[in-house]
Amino acid sequence: MKCRHCNTELRNVFTDLVYSPVSNAMLSREQLNGPESYYPLKIFVCDNCYLVQVDEMEKADKIFDEEYTYFSSFSKSWLQHAKDYVEMMIEKFGFDEKSLVLEIASNDGYLLQYFNEHNVPVLGVDPTANTAREAEKKGVRTIVDFFGSKLAKEYLLENGKLFDHHFNIILCMLK
Ligand SMILES: [Zn+2]
Repeated sequence: MKCRHCNTELRNVFTDLVYSPVSNAMLSREQLNGPESYYPLKIFVCDNCYLVQVDEMEKADKIFDEEYTYFSSFSKSWLQHAKDYVEMMIEKFGFDEKSLVLEIASNDGYLLQYFNEHNVPVLGVDPTANTAREAEKKGVRTIVDFFGSKLAKEYLLENGKLFDHHFNIILCMLK
């Protein structure tokens, strides 16, 4: 197995959590009597760039699909953290109506809704359509897709309007 970031062969096991079903893949009542897939959850750290990662046992689009069950807004304490974080970021970086905050893995808009409250334009990107629908209800524009070079080219780099703004990116990998 090679590092996703730098392609170095991975030799160091960071931790081994043995086997687990895919996270948030809840079973329906009917599925409870059937088999459930478990995957090795061996976590490696790269010698070269220190990226911590698991092997790819299941494709991302099979995990992050229309039936995704994790909605970030379920947690009131997490929402409070998101609100506090937004206020801190606005104070620190001076985001305003000329900024654009892009969140990768924006889920149900739990974070970007607070930038909206301060009239800071936002754009969410998340592959799970059901969470994105909730985000849209909160007024958070959301692209339903994985963020990668393909999406960056198709939706962002080719859309000059986005760059009329003072373009600020916050990579929110807090989950
Ligand atoms: Zn690496």
